[in-house]
Amino acid sequence: MRLKNCQIRIRHGIKDLYICYMKSIKYGTKAFMELLFPRLCPVCGKCLEVEEQFLCGRCEEDFPYTWSWAFGENPVERRMWERVGIVAAASLFFYRKEGGYGELVKKVKYGGDTALGRWLGRELGRRMDESGRFVGIQAIVPVPLHPLRRWRRGYNQAEIIAQGIAEGLGGVKVEMHLLRRRKHTGTQTKLSARERSANVKDAFAMNPRVATRLSSEGVRHILVVDDVLTSGATLSEAVKPLLDSFTVSVATAGFVE
Ligand SMILES: [Zn+2]
Repeated sequence: MRLKNCQIRIRHGIKDLYICYMKSIKYGTKAFMELLFPRLCPVCGKCLEVEEQFLCGRCEEDFPYTWSWAFGENPVERRMWERVGIVAAASLFFYRKEGGYGELVKKVKYGGDTALGRWLGRELGRRMDESGRFVGIQAIVPVPLHPLRRWRRGYNQAEIIAQGIAEGLGGVKVEMHLLRRRKHTGTQTKLSARERSANVKDAFAMNPRVATRLSSEGVRHILVVDDVLTSGATLSEAVKPLLDSFTVSVATAGFVE
C-alpha cells in the first residue's frame, strides 16, 4: 500500500515537473519573441510585458468603461431614443480624442487589428451577458460598409467587433447580409450633426429574403453593432429599415460623450 502511494506521488511529481517545464518554455519563447518584435500598448505607447495581452496594466486599470450595459436609460440609450425606438443599448468605453483610448478603435478601423477588435467586442458582450439586460438577443447584425469601401479596406471593423460580442454573449450568430448599404457616403468625421444626418439619410436597406429566413427561424430580437456611437445618425439609419420586422437593440465599442 505504502509502495503504491509512493509510486503515485512520484508519477504526480513527474507530471507537475513536466507542466512546469512546458510553461517555462512557453514563457521563454514569448519573452524571446517580445525581444525580437516588441509590442506597444496602443493607448500610452509603453512596451508591453509578456503577460500583458492588449493593454499595459496601467491603461487596463484606467480603462474608461461606460457601465452602460448595467443600467437602463443610460446615455447611450438616451442618444438613440432621440432618433429611433430601440429596446436597449450599450457601449464599452468613452471614446475621447485625448487620453489615447480612441487609438483602440483606430487600430481596428484603419489598422485591421482583428484580435484587438474581437477582444473589445468580447469584453462588451461578456458584460452585456452578465447584466441580464440583453438576454433575448437572437442575432447580431454589424452596420455594413458600402461594398466599394469594404473592398478597398478588405474588412469591416463593425463585423470584427460584432464577432467578439457574439462570443461574449455565448455564441449568438452574426448575420452579415440582413442590412445593405446602398449609399456610398463620405467620411462623417468632419461633418456637423445636421450634416451627418443628411449624409446618411436612407443609406441602408433591409434584405427581405434574409429577413424572411430569420423570421421563419424564430428570430425576433436583433442587436445592431457599430464601432463608435457619435451623434447616432448612422446607427439610427441602420436600425430604421429593421423596425417593421424586428425588435432592435444596439451596441458599440466606443461612445463619444
Ligand atoms: Zn498603456
